Amino acid sequence: MSVTDELLERAADYAAAFGHGALRAAPARSVAIVCCMDARLHPYGIFGLEEGDAHVVRNAGGAVTDDVVRPLAISQRLLGTTEVVLVHHADCGMRTVTDDAFRRAVLEETGAAPPWAPETFSEPEADVRRAVARIRSSPFLPRTDAVRGFVYDDRTGTLAEVD
Ligand code: ZN
Repeated sequence: MSVTDELLERAADYAAAFGHGALRAAPARSVAIVCCMDARLHPYGIFGLEEGDAHVVRNAGGAVTDDVVRPLAISQRLLGTTEVVLVHHADCGMRTVTDDAFRRAVLEETGAAPPWAPETFSEPEADVRRAVARIRSSPFLPRTDAVRGFVYDDRTGTLAEVD
């Protein structure tokens, strides 16, 4: 039995107990969260969110790349979100490698260099500032006044806001 098969069994249980089919697509909390895909980082748990409350956009590192600006633009323009919360975390795997080293490894193994930047970083606070600045300077996002960034501590479960 594969992991996917196990997940499908759980999905059947989920559907059997399903009770929120009447939720609207527009997030009830009018917020979009951008965070790292790290399996230990649980934005719904951290922020006490339920289905229907928020958009959550995740990728390696929680980087604000073009493919994060795209869902944020949809979120704000079509689904009414007005605030953005960014979450990086202290023990991020993106701190363990550099863009150059990652690119070189992929190139050596595949013969092709990725066209995208890996977006590694060394200091989470500095990268949160970079991510906030990218959102604030994006011409595609109508709501850039309420953007706040945080670093999550994987050991303690606490959040620290980045000024
Ligand atoms: Zn991470």
